[in-house]
Amino acid sequence: MDVRFDDATEAFRQEVRAWLEANVPKEPMPSDSEGAFHYTRAWQKKMFDAGWAGIHWPELYGGRGATLLEQAVFQQELARAQAPPMANTLGLMIVGPTLMIHGTEEQKKRYIPRILSAEEIWCQGFSEPNSGSDLASLQTRAVEDGDDFVVNGQKIWTSMAHVADMCILLTRTDPHAPKHKGISFLLVDMHSPGITVKPLRQMTGGAEFNEVFFENVRVPKQQLVGQLNDGWRIAMTTLTHERGSASFGTQMQMKRALDNIIDAARKVKHHGQPLSADPVIRQKLAQAYIRVNIMRLNNYRSITNQLRGQPPGPEASLDKLYWSEMNKWMQEIGQEILGPFSQLDPESRHYPISINLQYSFLWSRAETIYSGTSEIQRNIIGERVLGLPRG
Ligand SMILES: Cc1cc2nc3c(=O)[nH]c(=O)nc-3n(C[C@H](O)[C@H](O)[C@H](O)COP(=O)(O)OP(=O)(O)OC[C@H]3O[C@@H](n4cnc5c(N)ncnc54)[C@H](O)[C@@H]3O)c2cc1C
Repeated sequence: MDVRFDDATEAFRQEVRAWLEANVPKEPMPSDSEGAFHYTRAWQKKMFDAGWAGIHWPELYGGRGATLLEQAVFQQELARAQAPPMANTLGLMIVGPTLMIHGTEEQKKRYIPRILSAEEIWCQGFSEPNSGSDLASLQTRAVEDGDDFVVNGQKIWTSMAHVADMCILLTRTDPHAPKHKGISFLLVDMHSPGITVKPLRQMTGGAEFNEVFFENVRVPKQQLVGQLNDGWRIAMTTLTHERGSASFGTQMQMKRALDNIIDAARKVKHHGQPLSADPVIRQKLAQAYIRVNIMRLNNYRSITNQLRGQPPGPEASLDKLYWSEMNKWMQEIGQEILGPFSQLDPESRHYPISINLQYSFLWSRAETIYSGTSEIQRNIIGERVLGLPRG
């Protein structure tokens, strides 16, 4: 493992840094969901127009054809510049990479450039009310009828479905086959007749995910990805990207989260002394610093493996489990530092810091659930990384 970047990659870093310094929006992101969506969509469009969206994707589909190392540096610089997120997160993180591996040429040319430009927003219709961790038990049905599939069923926790134009949908196409074998992977137009979207409010106050109902929704057969009944294999590609991608950016986000907590420890006082002087809090912050840096070194190890041509595998579960559990633990330290102030509305003039640590604390719970809960990641690590017998 080599933790240095070569001169060409460092020159690329300077180019990215200069562009971000000149272009990251100065005005803050609106706090309401709708305002935030328009803001992040405009930001993604700006990045796309300047050639900075999907930078390691092939030029043929609108990407920049950058190297893996440049992509890693790019993520670091985005986080460093505190750039806003892009609107089409799921399109960029999971749909594009899945289509590039399993899509037809026509599907790639039709969808990938519009993912990059945020012209079409994507959502992921996998989970159902009775099929989350046990995803392969899903019941949404697609029945062949002439040139179409006809889809009936319900999805839940579908992030961004309320603004999405397209959905990657897992449906059962052979109810008699063993459960992993009778599933197909469809690309569904969210504006099709028969689709109803109902937003769900979360404990953070946001409402970014939804229930989605399908009633006799017609999906043309050319919207099938891969072979009929082979959707489980394709979904595994999607989930591996969801768990393993963006790790350098995530590491920088964790570093920023820790910086915010350290800042809180400097500002909040106990018996007239800042908590940053308290030996117990200092120990915890030092431990958090070590864990955030272990994450950085693990990222270097992953990228070294990828540069040697090894595809991301179940090890992505190790990364996902590590950072999501670490952040949950770190955010609890933040609440401990705030003490009684943690009960205040962050808008209150008595709230001692400028960052809303309550939101980060509540949101960190979600990170240990989405794209597979921590228990599921542990099962994958036990069975597929360590080779332990199935529980
Ligand atoms: C913020 C957020 C965004 C999301 N976005 C999407 C999205 O866009 N699209 C989508 O399809 N889904 C999405 N999800 C859903 C997510 O994938 C599921 O919540 C997750 O897979 C868990 O499923 P579940 O909620 O049904 O819990 P369950 O599967 O019912 O699990 C309940 C509890 O049992 C434990 N458990 C279950 N099975 C086992 C086992 N075999 N061994 C040990 N413990 C087990 C779980 O760890 C959990 O603690 C999102 C979730 C969140 C929180």
